[in-house]
Amino acid sequence: LVIARNVHKSYGENEVLKGIDLDVRPGEVVVILGPSGSGKSTFLRCINHLEDIDRGSIMVGGEQIGYVLHGSRLHKLPEKAIARQRRNIGMVFQQFNLYPHMTVLQNIVEAPVGVHKESRQAAEKYARELLEKVGLSDKANAYPRHLSGGQQQRVAIARALAIKPKLMLFDEPTSALDPELVGEVLAAMRDLAQQGLTMIVVTHEIGFAREAADRVVFMDGGYVVEQGTADEVLVNPQHPRTQAFLSRFI
Ligand code: ATP
Ligand code: MG
Repeated sequence: LVIARNVHKSYGENEVLKGIDLDVRPGEVVVILGPSGSGKSTFLRCINHLEDIDRGSIMVGGEQIGYVLHGSRLHKLPEKAIARQRRNIGMVFQQFNLYPHMTVLQNIVEAPVGVHKESRQAAEKYARELLEKVGLSDKANAYPRHLSGGQQQRVAIARALAIKPKLMLFDEPTSALDPELVGEVLAAMRDLAQQGLTMIVVTHEIGFAREAADRVVFMDGGYVVEQGTADEVLVNPQHPRTQAFLSRFI
């Protein structure tokens, strides 16, 4: 579903991604680990074209993100076409940023109804199904300020799912939460993983990686240093930098 090849990205002189290759099959859950500044967020932002890449290519669902091939030349896609590509990709950030003046249900149907012109009735029906999935059926009419951080993040997950994305990107979804609220968000993500959603998750939650990841990718310094099954990477890391990184968690 995702094929990234030789992805390079610099901010000015600072080369943050130095040739990332990554394949994600449909239904696969890939966890990306790595130290701060290794380029994890930048890579996720490139996948849904919040950042333009300098070299290489990223394909999602058979389409090259941000570009189209005309003859032998790549052309930048117009904004409208990029917006259509983004519809296939949901993203959840560390900061959930729900609309404070909208109820939970209104937050979730905002994109499908407001942007994608789905019928309100159908969108609300689906929103309630999503709320049930994340364990918040009783909060449809609550305002975000009346929810805990963990509940707000679960609403943010439901909101990202409301456009029926083929791929979900999570960027440290639990790192802004109080420790006692982390588990409920990871549990909701684990359910989604079991239901076959394709997910790329940047997290420092090694336990989640061990239980839910089909593949674990360790990034450092703008490179994929090592990847494999959770057992291979977490239990038997081959690369000294992976070993050094993981030793902090034991
Ligand atoms: P963390 O674990 O702290 O979230 P990360 O692996 O997600 O780290 P990135 O956020 O991708 O790392 O950042 C990688 C490098 O790119 C850092 O050196 C950062 O300073 C730089 N960087 C990120 N975004 C920008 C930007 N918009 N402009 C300039 N430099 C940036
Ligand atoms: Mg980051």
